[in-house]
Amino acid sequence: MRIDLHTHSNVSDGTQPPAELIAAAQHAGLDVVALTDHDQTAGWVQARQAAAELGVGFVPGMEITCQDHQGISVHLLCYLQDPGYQPLLDELDLSRNSRVIRAQRIVDRLAEDFPISWDLVSEHCQPGATVGRPHIADALITAGVVESRNEAFANILSARSRYYVGHPAIDPRDAVRLVLEAGGVPVFAHPAAALRGRVVPEATFHEMIDVGLAGVEIHHRDNSAEGKRFLARLAKQYDLIVTGSSDYHGAGKLNRLGENLTEPDMLDRIIAAGTGAQASL
Ligand code: AMP
Ligand code: FE
Ligand code: FE
Ligand code: ZN
Repeated sequence: MRIDLHTHSNVSDGTQPPAELIAAAQHAGLDVVALTDHDQTAGWVQARQAAAELGVGFVPGMEITCQDHQGISVHLLCYLQDPGYQPLLDELDLSRNSRVIRAQRIVDRLAEDFPISWDLVSEHCQPGATVGRPHIADALITAGVVESRNEAFANILSARSRYYVGHPAIDPRDAVRLVLEAGGVPVFAHPAAALRGRVVPEATFHEMIDVGLAGVEIHHRDNSAEGKRFLARLAKQYDLIVTGSSDYHGAGKLNRLGENLTEPDMLDRIIAAGTGAQASL
């Protein structure tokens, strides 16, 4: 069984519509794929239908943008949550709205030095999609400023850049609680991605575990080797679900579908725990 539990469509910052992503998953020889767009679930219906037509197993999910009390970015994956659970939807609305304001501020700063505008960024973002720096990167590519998203993230869009602006986001403990209330299964995404920026201290893991964190995404290309060893110890100590996945973003990132996989018994645990939505296997 080839199971990849972390992918993005153009409902957030991936480059393919959900149905195309599912076709790509089939082409990559995956048996099961989860769609985990940032901060929304608008792609589930299309993905589920394509998965049924192509005979691919589908797990509905999402990746929630969070920030801990020290301002460190945390991404929380969740699976099988009720997509209509209003308290969670309210938080996601706040988050997506603050992303728009923040992206506009980044563009304002960039526009002082580069030929880009909010209109150009909007052309690279599907209506209603969760906007992020990758869409700004795409506008910078069109404007001839950089050649790839990767190049943009390496300098002018990095968190260390003078053009960078952050945005407020939900505390990871509150996100874990809301996911559980929605019948979902919360899994900490790429928890040891040291190259992306600061990683949370061990205390944050314990705080999240205390409120019901169910799993950790260990097998992910951005986790450091040392971080993976730490996570494996933590998972053993607290009997956490362990996942592996690609974090595929279509043409927007080097990550390839199926480059990391989740063991079938771990998917079984997710399915046993999730009560807010159905997987189609
Ligand atoms: P934001 O959510 O606006 O802060 O932007 C972060 C998003 O950018 C993440 O979800 C990643 O998928 C994406 N990202 C981060 N680094 C890179 C990179 N080097 N190349 C392409 N996309 C990236
Ligand atoms: Fe992303
Ligand atoms: Fe992420
Ligand atoms: Zn992701």
